[in-house]
Amino acid sequence: MLDLSGFDRIRLAHLPTPVEPMARLAADLGGPNLLVKRDDCTGLATGGNKARKLEFLMAAAVREGADTVLTQGAVQSNHVRQTAAAACRLGLKCRVLLEERLSNPPSQYETSGNVWLNTLFGAEVAYRPGGSDMAAELDAEAEAVRSAGGVPYVIPGGGSNPLGGLGYVAMVEELAIQLRDQKLAVDHIVHATGSAGTQAGILAGLSALGMDIPVHGIGVRFDSETQESRVHALTDKITDLIGAPAVPRASVRAADGYIGDGYGHPTPGMVNAVRTTAQLEGLLLDPVYSGKGMAGLIDLVHKGVFSRKETVLFLHTGGAVGLFGYQWAFDDPPAGA
Ligand SMILES: *Cc1c(COP(=O)(O)O)cnc(C)c1O
Repeated sequence: MLDLSGFDRIRLAHLPTPVEPMARLAADLGGPNLLVKRDDCTGLATGGNKARKLEFLMAAAVREGADTVLTQGAVQSNHVRQTAAAACRLGLKCRVLLEERLSNPPSQYETSGNVWLNTLFGAEVAYRPGGSDMAAELDAEAEAVRSAGGVPYVIPGGGSNPLGGLGYVAMVEELAIQLRDQKLAVDHIVHATGSAGTQAGILAGLSALGMDIPVHGIGVRFDSETQESRVHALTDKITDLIGAPAVPRASVRAADGYIGDGYGHPTPGMVNAVRTTAQLEGLLLDPVYSGKGMAGLIDLVHKGVFSRKETVLFLHTGGAVGLFGYQWAFDDPPAGA
């Protein structure tokens, strides 16, 4: 079906992740059938979507003889936490840069959740002000590692480059097998999109396998035009890399109506989505990505975008550890930011 055997890969994730019904949420919404693909259960350091990307990225780091892996993200980045854990697994040092994207956040945001786990994994952590050119900062860090005699391997924010995207190409094949074996059909896929690698990998994978399922990205940072262009550019690179047909720009969709005041800022829709999914499904979403992704899904159901006979698959990209950095956002009324 799909041959990725030419790419080095180190197994880090628990795969396949389950596909499960969300029957109580579906009944509550009175909309389409809902399934959830549990990529919050990839296993690496409490799971999440970055584990799939890191299988290819860390393999490249090892092949290149790196002794230090560098990456960057927001303060409560799940990607940084999973990278720090993967580095531990492989006996590599890990150096990370965290960008202060919220101004004056509550102390939990700075100390709990992913931040505390980075420390537990022994990563070397440094901070940069919001709005910094994080890619340039990361390159400067890599240079510092080199000058000190080390061999750095730089993983971009979110692990979103063509190699990282292969993780989600592979996910599409995994999903296709599950749908066949469980005799399920999926009419739409919905998930949160940030650094673009997840959506680009999915679109490339669907193209490679000749599957025609609309993917509704729910943006968490950029306006639709910007995010769709970013996803499309990366999708092109991934289809090139694997020799799959290019994906037309018109097939790339990323909503921007669920971002609120910006990346990492809580919204009432996110708080409602996290609470509702917890209380109806016993399922934990996260405040930055999957909570806003689910807020988008709920709104699309309310708007009648899906027919009642259709089946919508929500890709749960993980991140629940971030809830501990955001408890304040669930206070009534919410405290701060
Ligand atoms: C990184 C992340 C996303 C977004 O995936 P991208 O590949 O960066 O677009 C979604 N959900 C969670 C929990 C994440 O950590």
